[in-house]
Amino acid sequence: VLVLQTDLSCSYISPVAARLLGYPKLGYQEFDLLSFVHRDDRVAATSLFNATQEGSMETIEIRLRHFVGTYAWFEVGGTDLTGDPSINGILLNAREIGDRKMAEERLLHSEARFKALVQNSTDLVIVIEPNGAVGYASPSVEASLGMPLSLIQGLQMSEVFAENTLPLTDLLESQQPLIGWNSAAIEFGYRATSGDWRILETTLTDLRGEPAVGGLVFNARDITDRKQMNELLLHQATHDELTGLPNRRHLLDLLSQTLDRNGGTTTVSALLVDIDDFKDVNDSLGHSFGDRLLEAIAERLTGLVHSEVLDAGDIAARIGGDEFVVAFERAHGEKQTADICEQVLVALNTPFVIDGRELTVTASAGLAFDHDRSNSAELLLQNADTAMYKAKDLGKRQVVVFESYMHVATFDRLELRADLARAVAQEQFEAYYQPVVNLATQKIVGAEALVRWRHPERGMVGPGLFIPLAEESGLIAPIGEFMLSTACEDLCDWREEFGAAVEDFTVSVNLSVQQLHDRRIVGKVSDILEQTGLPAERLVLEVTESTLITETEMISSTMQQLRSFGTRLAIDDFGTGYSSLGYIQQFEFDVLKIDKSFVDDLDSFTNQRIVSAVLQLADQLGVRTIAEGIEQELQAELLKSLGCKLGQGYLYAKPMPAQEFRELLRIASDPFEIPTEVVEFQV
Ligand code: C2E
Ligand code: MG
Ligand code: MG
Repeated sequence: VLVLQTDLSCSYISPVAARLLGYPKLGYQEFDLLSFVHRDDRVAATSLFNATQEGSMETIEIRLRHFVGTYAWFEVGGTDLTGDPSINGILLNAREIGDRKMAEERLLHSEARFKALVQNSTDLVIVIEPNGAVGYASPSVEASLGMPLSLIQGLQMSEVFAENTLPLTDLLESQQPLIGWNSAAIEFGYRATSGDWRILETTLTDLRGEPAVGGLVFNARDITDRKQMNELLLHQATHDELTGLPNRRHLLDLLSQTLDRNGGTTTVSALLVDIDDFKDVNDSLGHSFGDRLLEAIAERLTGLVHSEVLDAGDIAARIGGDEFVVAFERAHGEKQTADICEQVLVALNTPFVIDGRELTVTASAGLAFDHDRSNSAELLLQNADTAMYKAKDLGKRQVVVFESYMHVATFDRLELRADLARAVAQEQFEAYYQPVVNLATQKIVGAEALVRWRHPERGMVGPGLFIPLAEESGLIAPIGEFMLSTACEDLCDWREEFGAAVEDFTVSVNLSVQQLHDRRIVGKVSDILEQTGLPAERLVLEVTESTLITETEMISSTMQQLRSFGTRLAIDDFGTGYSSLGYIQQFEFDVLKIDKSFVDDLDSFTNQRIVSAVLQLADQLGVRTIAEGIEQELQAELLKSLGCKLGQGYLYAKPMPAQEFRELLRIASDPFEIPTEVVEFQV
């Protein structure tokens, strides 16, 4: 409280006022109020003073200077008490209002901030009036819709967002406050002026009861791109990038749904297809060629789903490198489904043309049924996988139906791979021999060495199963070396024991493409020949046709060197791969082995003509021919009539341990069993 005289001098200052202003020592007579008022507030202060003298009761807010130089806000009002003898002056009542001022400032500040936020937000902010018209639209609405704000204002929402799917009418018609809608995001679509269909995500806050707003606050953002990206990511996560087919995870989902859906009238089944020797394609033609082949295979499988071979509900998927799955929603009979699977393999066997290069693949497949409707998708696939491995083991290019006993033989491939490394160190491999016979005389002219793995727990494992693993892990080199030296040693033993009778005998050893890529192979073969003393021309090295698709310099020069010291070369599985008779001449093969698939289908006239042509050509080039996989007498007869001289097959003998093979030779050459004169091991 202060009392001022009309000349503005101070006649009284209360102790509180003195303390608030920090001037305890000053005598109030010296107190010149105006000099303590903030320069900007002096006019207001003077006019208040004058107004008070005229009887006004108004108050003003001014800043007064503290002793230390800072200003504080006060609310000041005055009463003219000059007429009151006990006061005789103008009574000023000043109240410190610093806190209130600060709150006000904060409010102003936050208002400005919110305004700026709305104005600059990329979100579309619209206040929708109760009649559905736009009351306010933020600048981003203009930017986003390409319509001037002045035009948008007052338009109906349905005019701003054409064809929109926002249930606005329902919302506005409900007289209840839209409590449920607050904060929950609604997605809706509309037709943009560009003609595109865009998706917005919006929240609606019901502020119709709020006088400052008086409508629904629509706060939206365009999520079209995000949604498209999400869809793309989802597709990528569930589909194989290369072929676009569902991937393993997605297949398991789809298959689970199919299994769940199945009411029991039909049997769900899964066919797992693995391309035979796909690695060879990659190794010799390169990965990008391999990729293109996989794409073509995928296309063919999808084609089947859309043809009458498979049902539209069937699923084709790629679950790994060269592994595909066809899942049948309605497998009727086991036989019927297996027949369809055969057709799938036949379809895959039709030549592919990639980069102008024609090539044929074969595949092995396992088929598993959900007979008792108790299989999970995982189990069904696992069973199909087990059966597929059985198919590989049985010589590839076939469908094997899963049977529960196979579980016993199920291999964990990783485990097998680890075992394989140990097998090399522990010499668990053995060479089996299958005789090569003269078809006319049925006399043995040689043998093919075929590797076997005597697994300590699993028993005998065939090469179809472990050779691919060995190739992947680089273990094929020591295994191949073992086979080479064993075969050469064994033939030396037989030569010693049976002398002249086996003098012209040859032993064949299979080589993998990896072995041909390794320069050291030449030195190894020559070392082994030297160590065993076997004449080089008694050794035949078999190379599958697929190895040769690209006669890389390397393979070509390696083969040249192998030939140069007299070793013979055979082209194996001829006709399965890339069928070029040119290879025979180009690589100077000595032997051509006609693949079992031709022998199997010799009753087909076309096959007969092909075999006959191949035989004639080979004859002209001076190349010996061996027919592989002869199982029936009739096949042998037909081959003979077509001019084929040599053959191999179960009809004559299955591959057998060295000891048994020696025994076979002994019996055959024993004068008491078969007269020596007619026993002739040579052609
Ligand atoms: P391949 O060189 O074409 O050998 C012929 C395969 O056909 C052998 O299978 C043989 O047991 C089988 N076979 C022979 N006659 C018949 C028959 O009348 N009917 C049927 N169904 N099959 C018959 P195996 O021993 O399982 O060998 C499979 C393949 O594994 C071989 O095919 C060869 O490519 C590879 N392989 C075998 N041993 C070695 C090896 O030491 N090194 C390399 N790199 N590969 C080998
Ligand atoms: Mg062979
Ligand atoms: Mg073969």
